[in-house]
Amino acid sequence: MTAPLRTDPTIVQVALGERSYDIVIGRGLIASLGARIEALRPRARVFIVTDTNIELHHLDAVEETLAESAIAASQLVVAPGEGSKSFRVFEQVCEAIIAARIERGDLVIALGGGVIGDLAGFAASAVRRGIDYVQVPTTLLAQVDSSVGGKTAINSAHGKNLVGAFHQPILVVADTALLDTLPPREFRAGYAEVAKYGLLGDAAFFSWLEANWREVFAGGKSSASKTSASGAREHAIAVSCRAKAAIVARDERETGDRALLNLGHTFGHALEAACGFSDRLLHGEAVAAGMALAFEFSARLGLLPSTEAARAIRHLAEVGLPTRPKDIAGGLPDADALMALMAQDKKVKRGMLTFILVRGIGAAFVEHGVDAAQVRAFLSEKLAER
Ligand code: ADP
Ligand code: ZN
Repeated sequence: MTAPLRTDPTIVQVALGERSYDIVIGRGLIASLGARIEALRPRARVFIVTDTNIELHHLDAVEETLAESAIAASQLVVAPGEGSKSFRVFEQVCEAIIAARIERGDLVIALGGGVIGDLAGFAASAVRRGIDYVQVPTTLLAQVDSSVGGKTAINSAHGKNLVGAFHQPILVVADTALLDTLPPREFRAGYAEVAKYGLLGDAAFFSWLEANWREVFAGGKSSASKTSASGAREHAIAVSCRAKAAIVARDERETGDRALLNLGHTFGHALEAACGFSDRLLHGEAVAAGMALAFEFSARLGLLPSTEAARAIRHLAEVGLPTRPKDIAGGLPDADALMALMAQDKKVKRGMLTFILVRGIGAAFVEHGVDAAQVRAFLSEKLAER
């Protein structure tokens, strides 16, 4: 195996008073994980939670760096997929952490995508009333979204993420080389959340993505030295983390601004639920389609020119993300059923829907008074295009 390429890491601080922490971003960073943990928590023992796919590709490298810093580590490897965000697996994780004699002062490491981050983070929040944890996100989605901000949860029979806690990590180490083993479809789905940061609040970043997305996808994995391609991926992740960190710092518990991060998620959630949260439509794919609908709906309301909405949608389509109901394979329920699925997404107040709408690329805002009848009519028209 050739040594991974390295770039100078970028550090993004999440400013939350005494719960502040760094997100360290760079290619080949995993080799420094042991030293970073040792610097932060001398003599702490660690417990790694990961899934079988990540175990296959990356667990050795993590064990190696911890061993180099003489950090005692044990682990639990769970099945990949959303099914592991269950009470049953949560219990297994908690019991395994306790059995490994991890105490307060020790650390949990969440090595994985959004599923592992949510599961291990929630277990860390609960065992002994709270143990610190480190996020080592291995998917693009986790590097730019779920590992930042401290939301952790498992699923209930009543819906996704209904049992959880706010528990901030003490460190996030985002090694962009870990994404080289990610299935391309998973990378692309995570990219929807990257584009989201441009679309919701940073028009210049969106323009940059339009020009550089190919380099972000390539990530510099095949080049012989530090290249602009590898820099592009790190840049996209750093800008995304900075955007999320700024929003989270303003509104840690989502009482206001943090809702902007839900751009595309109300429509997206309905589509995702309609597909049974299955591989038919990944979360990021649903968000891409949801953002496209949010832009088109906003244009319909006269909030922005339709040419600007078309530009946003064109980029999502260009990278291969779904932007219309007809891009989603298989059948979808009708507009009423989609409305019902949306309503379950806790965003309805007195018959009015709360939506994140846009006045342009980079100009999203929270609107509490969206007329449900108008949304229904719009959806039924979009569904008819199939
Ligand atoms: P997300 O981060 O999108 O919420 P998951 O945690 O479910 O999603 O991860 C998506 C899938 O990708 C899972 O099957 C997981 O095992 C797999 N996976 C995660 N990280 C990697 C990686 N770096 N290389 C290969 N497969 C990975
Ligand atoms: Zn999302």
